[in-house]
Amino acid sequence: MENSDKRHIAILGSTGSIGTQALEVIDANPERFQVEILTAHSNAELLAEQALKYKPNAVVIQSEEKYACLKDRLFDFGIKTYCGADALADIVETDAIDIVLTALVGFAGLRPTMKAIEAGKHIALANKETLVVAGEIVTAAAKKAGVNIYPVDSEHSAIFQCLVGEFHNPIEKIYLTASGGPFRGYNYEQLKTVLPKNALKHPNWDMGAKITIDSASMMNKGLEVIEAKWLFGLKPEQIDVIVHPQSVLHSIVQFRDGSMKAQMGLPDMKLPIQYAIGYPERLLSDFPRFNFLDYPELTFEKPDYEAFRNLKLAFGAMADGGNKPCILNAANEIAVDAFLNKGLGFTEMSDVIENALQSVYFIEKPTLEDYFETDAETRTFAHSRILEKIG
Ligand code: NAD
Ligand code: MG
Repeated sequence: MENSDKRHIAILGSTGSIGTQALEVIDANPERFQVEILTAHSNAELLAEQALKYKPNAVVIQSEEKYACLKDRLFDFGIKTYCGADALADIVETDAIDIVLTALVGFAGLRPTMKAIEAGKHIALANKETLVVAGEIVTAAAKKAGVNIYPVDSEHSAIFQCLVGEFHNPIEKIYLTASGGPFRGYNYEQLKTVLPKNALKHPNWDMGAKITIDSASMMNKGLEVIEAKWLFGLKPEQIDVIVHPQSVLHSIVQFRDGSMKAQMGLPDMKLPIQYAIGYPERLLSDFPRFNFLDYPELTFEKPDYEAFRNLKLAFGAMADGGNKPCILNAANEIAVDAFLNKGLGFTEMSDVIENALQSVYFIEKPTLEDYFETDAETRTFAHSRILEKIG
């Protein structure tokens, strides 16, 4: 392949779980990709190391304190260095970029993703929070700009893979599979006493801290339900969740003739990452292959909506629409941080989110600006609720 055929990629959040795995995919396919931009929140050491290896055009670090260290390390190598949220939003407009992998975490993904779409860049979307918060505006902007949003989330990648060749066929229903996380089978009373160290141990996936807690509380599945609504243009009643503890059936589409398609594979995020950034081609991989005899039983269960209240709250926020999913997301981000770092109880996270959904003003048709205001307002509200709870 000629150099000019290489896909030029920006990786937002290159030092995280998805970001580092994306770089492994690129290592295995050096003739396919050219790394243009790398960004991180505060891990300047790893970002500098990555920059020296992949020789991007520019790197951006969010943290101002770490900027000097990054700049020093890269000064002699002709790699541009920038710092802060504005630089992150601006850098995605760089002419040379073809595709932006949004592998950063949380609401912070919204602004750079919108900017990238408006600049005509295709998106490989890992940052599900962006679609949860502002799915309507983001998908409309993508349509207007003629850019594609390729899902990286394994469940959504599964649905997308099932839909290739079927885009003209209406979807009757989708089933998102959920592993159930480390507390599958726990009742509400048992969940009250679980600690961060227990919640951080996911049985099947090795991921960043925020999504690992979201998986333990099943908020991750709630966010994914909303993400699926926007990615695939579905009505809430067309989306169902089924617990499948082995995590090899990554999700299922049911068509109007009753036929169902599922995508299977071992749980390895490199597969959906490489499908998203390599689409429409399936790139060669040496990932371990699935062996049916290692999995004599694939099992399925109904989620426990009473114990895992977050899932119910997410379905409710999706049904209410407007800025409710934005409130859900912001309250959850603050609650997860408080659970990990400030002693908030595991089930108290749902209390905070529920209170925020009841208290923060509802906007039926939010603008992009409204989402930023709702996010800020909800964070303030959630902080004060948490202070009341933990003193
Ligand atoms: P992570 O915490 O491991 O990495 C996050 C990356 O984003 C890091 O590079 C960090 O420096 C950067 N970052 C964090 N906050 C930032 C901010 N405010 N501004 C700029 N950069 C920031 O997270 P992860 O597990 O890789 O998850 C990334 C996204 O992908 C999340 O939205 C998550 O829900 C989604 N996702 C992850 C997985 C997985 O297996 N890890 C699977 C599906 C979806
Ligand atoms: Mg997922």
